[in-house]
Amino acid sequence: MQYYLKIFGCQMNYSDTERIETILTKYKMKKAASIEAANLIVFVTCGVRQSAENRVYGQINNLRKKYPKKKIILTGCLAHRKDVQRRLKGKVDLFCEINNFPKNILKFFQNSKFKIKNSSCDASLKDYLEIKPHYTNKYTAYVPVMTGCNNFCSYCVVPYARGREYSRLAQNILKEAKSLVKKGCKEIVLLGQNVNSYNSKLQKGEAISFPKLLRLIENLPEKFWITFLTSHPKDMNDELIKMIAQSKKICEYISLPAQSGDNEILRKMNRHYTIAHYKNLIKKIRKAYDSRSHLEWTRGETSNRITPAISTDIIVGFPGETKKQFENTAKLFREMKFDMAYINQYSPRPETAAWKLKDNVSKKEKVRREKFLTEILKKTALENNKKYIRKVVEVLADNAVRPHSSLAARSDRLKYMGHTRTQKKVLFFSNKKIPVGSFVKVKITKAKAFGLEGELL
Ligand code: SAH
Ligand code: SF4
Repeated sequence: MQYYLKIFGCQMNYSDTERIETILTKYKMKKAASIEAANLIVFVTCGVRQSAENRVYGQINNLRKKYPKKKIILTGCLAHRKDVQRRLKGKVDLFCEINNFPKNILKFFQNSKFKIKNSSCDASLKDYLEIKPHYTNKYTAYVPVMTGCNNFCSYCVVPYARGREYSRLAQNILKEAKSLVKKGCKEIVLLGQNVNSYNSKLQKGEAISFPKLLRLIENLPEKFWITFLTSHPKDMNDELIKMIAQSKKICEYISLPAQSGDNEILRKMNRHYTIAHYKNLIKKIRKAYDSRSHLEWTRGETSNRITPAISTDIIVGFPGETKKQFENTAKLFREMKFDMAYINQYSPRPETAAWKLKDNVSKKEKVRREKFLTEILKKTALENNKKYIRKVVEVLADNAVRPHSSLAARSDRLKYMGHTRTQKKVLFFSNKKIPVGSFVKVKITKAKAFGLEGELL
């Protein structure tokens, strides 16, 4: 019996899928090389925007027509929605929320007389977040520290799709991180909808906050990088800023979604902070790194101190967002000089508080606002990236560029893709072969808005 996975959405969904693979493997299922070869297709869905939802409908309808006998399971952020279940009735064989996946999949296999080799639920599969993942990437591993959310931003489905906040036990996270670095993992990406509200206990009973958890992971031996996503501006505190600015392993990349640059819109979004607070946070973060004289930021040369990269998420066209309010977001972009921004057109989501508000910014205007911000972002990101030119930066080599790809044209030299501690993609040239997953030093020669180019030192 073979399975095929269709994954949509954020890193959390990719991380969930790594555990789904473990479960299916325990039941002796094999990963199919193509959809044709699969008996079971699992859709790990995203409900954050209508466009992601529509892609799922389209693909399931097509697959069902083409393969009436294959089993289809739908999990992820759409699985709990009654309207989705009604819409896909007769096309999907099982709707299953991710937390219940281990339990429900076995029942499903038994009911559908699927020939699986293991017929009892393995104890190691009971708690979904503690299932040992089938890591897709040996060198960069996603490690969820928490799931769910209690914030109820008025536009967002996450609290409905993933339920209330739930933090993993610190000792389990630590054990996973330990085993990863022992096996040669070079970058641990800690995941949570709002990592700042991580709150757990060690076995001894000591309360562990997110900064404490970071410290525990950082103290593990070996050289590796730590990144984390996502921070909520209302919860990011001085303790965390101080801790990350002083750390050697925590990378200089901060994901801090602003969502809007206008106080009235932020209030309607139920975000619980003002733009003054947001700007002050960024100022504090940059200042904390500035005073970090004892560390070199790039691990290249001490004099090459590059500012931390700041990434944000924005929604354009929230109900009632006027041109003037949007202009405040554009102003925030110009002032903050972001390195990266995920700019989303507002999409009304069932169940959320904003669902009741009139979606009154036209599609055309949303597109215009998105493009407008993207243009500012391109400028500020390029401006920031130009500061890397002639500097030596530490890069984690992700993969060799294949000789026939467009990136490899016009040269006999070897080429690799990698990324910096600030999550900048780097295309670099080399005269010698280097192992993928190794840390190398690269002298940057060219900067683009969303990437750098350089030479291996
Ligand atoms: N926990 C993170 C975000 C999770 S959802 C935070 O607090 O910021 C990922 C991103 O999707 C959000 O940052 C937001 O920009 C976008 N998003 C969420 N709901 C949306 C909606 N209804 N329409 C458009 N974008 C949305
Ligand atoms: Fe959604 Fe807000 Fe929670 Fe982020 S903090 S997951 S945007 S409800």
